[in-house]
Amino acid sequence: MKNWSMYIGGRWVGATDGRTYDIINPATAGKVGTAPYGGAEEADLAIDAAVKAFPDWSRRTAKDRASILHRMADLMDERREVLARVITLEMGKPLREALAETKISADYLRWNAEEAARSYGTVIPSPVTGKRLLAIRQPVGPVAAITPWNFPLSMAARKVAPALAAGCTVVLKPALQTPGASVMFAEIAEEAGLPSGVLNLVIGKASAIGERFLQHPGIRKLTFTGSTEVGKLLIRGSADQVKKVTMELGGHAPFIVFEDADLDAAVRGAINSKFRNAGQTCICANRIYVHESIAESFLEKFRSAVNSLVTGDGFAEDTTVGPLIDEHALRFVEEQVRDAMDKGATLVTGGKRVGGCDGYFFEPTILAGVNEEMRITREETFGPVAPVYLFRTEEEAVAKANNTPYGLAAYFFTRDLHRMIRVSEALEYGIVGCNDAVPTTVEGPFGGWKESGMGREGGPDSLSDFLETKFVSIQYETSEGAGAR
Ligand code: ADP
Repeated sequence: MKNWSMYIGGRWVGATDGRTYDIINPATAGKVGTAPYGGAEEADLAIDAAVKAFPDWSRRTAKDRASILHRMADLMDERREVLARVITLEMGKPLREALAETKISADYLRWNAEEAARSYGTVIPSPVTGKRLLAIRQPVGPVAAITPWNFPLSMAARKVAPALAAGCTVVLKPALQTPGASVMFAEIAEEAGLPSGVLNLVIGKASAIGERFLQHPGIRKLTFTGSTEVGKLLIRGSADQVKKVTMELGGHAPFIVFEDADLDAAVRGAINSKFRNAGQTCICANRIYVHESIAESFLEKFRSAVNSLVTGDGFAEDTTVGPLIDEHALRFVEEQVRDAMDKGATLVTGGKRVGGCDGYFFEPTILAGVNEEMRITREETFGPVAPVYLFRTEEEAVAKANNTPYGLAAYFFTRDLHRMIRVSEALEYGIVGCNDAVPTTVEGPFGGWKESGMGREGGPDSLSDFLETKFVSIQYETSEGAGAR
């Protein structure tokens, strides 16, 4: 049983009124710990600490900042087992996936540490004599980072690492369901020698804390991963003080299997993309489009692969699909499946919650005969349900794939090189996996088009969103002086 604390100005603290809440293991519905339930007051204390720490941290050399990030990465590797266990305990994913999450989190720290030394500016040739024109890049200021529960460690690392590398200080707010990974992340930061106030952690009432992030003038940038609905609230709220925002919002990924695809690879890809994290990732395949000429053999292979998945507690060795995060999520998925069935979809396998246990488990499910009228075609599912649609032509598949306000990730399988280029350019998405169902890597820019967000995390420009450009014009000789030579 863990009783977590907040981390503000270098001190481990509870809520000022002492309030706490229970953390639930979604695999058992049982209490596994407590965390402080903070709000506006704690948010203000954390922001003040970040503001106070900013001048010193931002003036340190990039090399100095990078060495602390490297130490954090090493400590994270050393603690990967215990970190992974906390992730599985609080959000349910199979331990194997939690271990992979700790690995990519350490990679985010290292990648951004290395990018810190390369946040180059530009020297611009002057149009007149006697002037030197420079464009330099400086940290934007104290940053507020809001993370979701589905990747509790890697989302913290993906936001905090580039912010710290760029010279920003941070107030991190994890999701209520999964505070543990962020607490351990802050412990690692402290042990790695990060100065007090550079990283602060507040846990508690999201709307009250979010409100202070928007209203307190000390915060200059907001980086958020979560639902499109809350993202829109934060974008609106950021307008008052014109705060910079990075938004990584919902997705509704199409997964297209063309008639010339390697079917076995496509099935493996669909399993990976749809059922990883029990279907609770924002880049999960949400609509599987299959060419009608291969639909029968695809469905047969897909059904047999889905039936070999093992649903269970993430700590059990053979589990491949863990629970959903809570009862609300379970009900949402149930309703989507019921809606599709009422409107004529057919069940290929699965279709209901797993009975006989207290955890929030849903059977890995395939729906066939799905159409545009059904909720599942428009709403992000966030569960282990794969709806399958048929198509006849490439134009039709691309048009259907793009027919959504979302634009995060899209996938397609083909062996035709011309089609690879054509379709990857026609898809209106920030991330396209061509014969690749797991495109996430620290080296690639992650982010969405349309209502899936703005800004990018990771990749060669990962620090850009945390840096401001400043144009400096230095007149080092008057024009007469220059002419006199
Ligand atoms: P989900 O539905 O996946 O939980 P949310 O967008 O509700 O997605 O949550 C993502 C993150 O946003 C969490 O840390 C949550 O606490 C936070 N959050 C939710 N509502 C607000 C809000 N009004 N202001 C700021 N943060 C919020």
